Amino acid sequence: MEGIKGKVAVVTGAAKGIGRAIALRLAKEGADIVINYRTNSDSLSELVSEIESFGSKVITVRGDVSVFEDAKNIMKKAVETFGTVDILVNNAGITRDGLILRMKEEDFDKVIEVNLKGAFNCIRHVSPIMVKKRSGKIINISSVVGITGNSGQVNYSAAKAGIIGVTKSVARELGSRGINVNAVAPGFIKTSMTEALSDKLKENTLNSIPLKRFGTVDDVASVVAFLASKDSDYITGQVINIDGGMVM
Ligand code: NAD
Repeated sequence: MEGIKGKVAVVTGAAKGIGRAIALRLAKEGADIVINYRTNSDSLSELVSEIESFGSKVITVRGDVSVFEDAKNIMKKAVETFGTVDILVNNAGITRDGLILRMKEEDFDKVIEVNLKGAFNCIRHVSPIMVKKRSGKIINISSVVGITGNSGQVNYSAAKAGIIGVTKSVARELGSRGINVNAVAPGFIKTSMTEALSDKLKENTLNSIPLKRFGTVDDVASVVAFLASKDSDYITGQVINIDGGMVM
């Protein structure tokens, strides 16, 4: 894909799952990578060597995206090392599922803090960098449940719907500065986040997917790479579903 080579990409929550696949794909396309992770750096050495094997440079930055100063530090470290940030992928996310009748206040707050405020924090700190150079690509990982809602996920679907609002607002604000802001809305992707779900729920979900398979992390990474590339220069403020046709 054109326009990724030599660019600097920050991927939040990139130690595993979808974020890891995105970091690898952008590195394969020639970007230098800033891997943000929250807690455990143990599993990162393999990812770092894989990225380096593509000839890309990489740093790892520990930080909790829901903390304003941590988000600031991620961008600071990126600029100190690579001079700039061209691509931001807001991927970090958590679930704390529960029905509304039982959901604890802290479970609502925590999911909003990480999934929604975390994206705000990172965009807030990357915007000045991108505005100054009048270019940039911001890609937010939403979810189809931010569009449809989902039983047991009041907190998560509110956060993911919120991300769509953030995407469209920032796209309007920063479009004139050459910055594209888009979201992807994955459906059911095979990662540790979905592994824990019951077999019954998985079977029901599979029946609702026209393409008759769950998504892979690479299905998401390839669309994110497209949105980070020159090939999508005239696309902004959009939400692209990656869900095998589950929601249409
Ligand atoms: P995952 O649990 O495998 O990965 C999430 C990553 O985010 C982990 O590395 C975790 O450490 C990191 N993270 C969590 N809280 C963080 C914080 N406060 N600061 C920094 N990093 C933090 O999950 P995944 O399935 O790879 O999910 C990635 C993104 O895709 C999430 O935003 C998720 O909501 C979204 N998503 C996933 C699916 C799916 O089916 N798996 C569907 C739609 C959307």
